[in-house]
Amino acid sequence: MIIQLQPDISENQKEKLIAKVNEIGYKTTEVQTQLGDYIVGIGKKEFDIRKIGQMDGIRDIHIVSDEYKLVSKKWKAKPTSVDLGDNIFIKDGEMAIITGPCSIETEDQIRKVVAHCVENDIKMMRGGVFKPRSSPYAFRGLGIDGLKLWHELASAAGIKIVTEVMQTSQIEEMYPYVDVYQVGARNSQNFNLLDELGKVDKAVMIKRGISGTIEELLQSAEYVFSGGNEKLILCERGIRTYERASRNTLDLNAIPILKAKSHLPVIVDPSHGIGIRAYVPQMALAGVMSGADGIIYESHEVPEKAYSDGQQTLDFAQSARLAAWIRESFAMRKGFDLL
Ligand code: PEP
Ligand code: MN
Repeated sequence: MIIQLQPDISENQKEKLIAKVNEIGYKTTEVQTQLGDYIVGIGKKEFDIRKIGQMDGIRDIHIVSDEYKLVSKKWKAKPTSVDLGDNIFIKDGEMAIITGPCSIETEDQIRKVVAHCVENDIKMMRGGVFKPRSSPYAFRGLGIDGLKLWHELASAAGIKIVTEVMQTSQIEEMYPYVDVYQVGARNSQNFNLLDELGKVDKAVMIKRGISGTIEELLQSAEYVFSGGNEKLILCERGIRTYERASRNTLDLNAIPILKAKSHLPVIVDPSHGIGIRAYVPQMALAGVMSGADGIIYESHEVPEKAYSDGQQTLDFAQSARLAAWIRESFAMRKGFDLL
């Protein structure tokens, strides 16, 4: 169960409420986020909801029997809107476009991608400064100095930064320079990292684990929310299956299912999803039609020269075309009123 508390609930009222919920046979956890205070009750006993609903200091009470609760749509029918400031949102009813290289490489490269974003009215740029690589000998990123430089150039152009945080010790040093902390597929169930991101007042985008289920992705998001951070975005980036003809299998089924189960915005990463440049646009547009609230894809001035993931990276002309197609497809989807 989720109990939403009144902002002015007294300590005494809260104690009485917790005692009552415990008496029914539910364990309680207090959750305080940027947007509200909650008591989450975990248990299975049947009870008369009015016994609690009538108590002082309560805004609302909801029965949510899923393993994940705070990210469930069962208590919050209104979709979550993640506000990045300067009128830039990732939310239901809009189509976020996020592009940029796999890795942040050089000042020149940053300048060129920022200019590409500005030219195409793309407000969010992706890129890794701490790169999780399968081989320890591959390029591992420019680190915090790269992020500082990127922030200087991107913020001057009004562009928001989406970048991966790999470990808890990086959260604080990254904080002034990042708009969305990305949790990578390999860290999707790094619960220490998720716990710590719960304490931060900045958006967090969680990628689905390489072999993670939809439910596991939602439970990862539950970690961050229950830690105190409601500014969450879910990302489908393909899962590992027996299929070897593509890098991963982009699970577009996940989009309508996640949207039905959760109030959080859902975005699609077709670049890592299929891993083949020529097919990234198709999968991006399929993601739009599946009901996604945004698309994140890799782009670079000369993909063949990219330090990482060049094989799935679009050049600027392809990216400009794709951004326009994403917008057209989204307008068409809204016309269908499918979702
Ligand atoms: C990335 O976005 O470049 C990345 C490493 O993604 P993932 O964690 O999905 O593999
Ligand atoms: Mn990549």
